[in-house]
Amino acid sequence: MKPQPVPASTASTVDTASTVDTADASGTVAGPHRDDREADATHMRRAIAVARDALAAGNMPYGAVLVVDGRAVFAAGNEQRSTGDCTAHAETVLVRRARERLGAAITQGATVYASGEPCAMCCGALFWAGVRRVVYAASQAEMARVLGGDLLPVDARSVFAGSAPPVQVDGPLLEAESVAVLEQAARGAQGDRSCGPSPSGSVDVPRVMRPT
Ligand SMILES: [Zn+2]
Repeated sequence: MKPQPVPASTASTVDTASTVDTADASGTVAGPHRDDREADATHMRRAIAVARDALAAGNMPYGAVLVVDGRAVFAAGNEQRSTGDCTAHAETVLVRRARERLGAAITQGATVYASGEPCAMCCGALFWAGVRRVVYAASQAEMARVLGGDLLPVDARSVFAGSAPPVQVDGPLLEAESVAVLEQAARGAQGDRSCGPSPSGSVDVPRVMRPT
């Protein structure tokens, strides 16, 4: 799928994010902590929806959403298979495309919601983009359990441990909902774990490659 800017006016699933903002402003949701939890869940469900879209497009089942000041401003899915780029994990695509479209400052101090715990490469991309909070759904352990494939065994908290400035890592959040998408991908996989476009003649079946 193509990453898309997500203005509040679009009639897409991003509208669910602005709904939370409205609820916050109206005071109809009790307590800041509850507000935060509900906003986290809303943004994460969008990331998982993007993961579902990525899978439907033949890519790995991962999605990420960029949130600035409580509002979803950009979403991107994995593009490894559609581009043949091993580094086109949802988070790296998100950072690159959002900064291209919205300006490099858009990621500074932002929060990223990822349907899968970011790998070490993606953690680096998020850090250098200035992202200061990362929330993930499925843990790397669950991603490895469901999809298998190569494993880079450095969890996100370890990558960011001691980083300056610090990056807050939260998760897993709504892990079962994300794992359901991973399991859908696993059912469609045929054992191809290579990184790159699939061989010609078999492009219609999502393949398992590497956990993002
Ligand atoms: Zn990654």
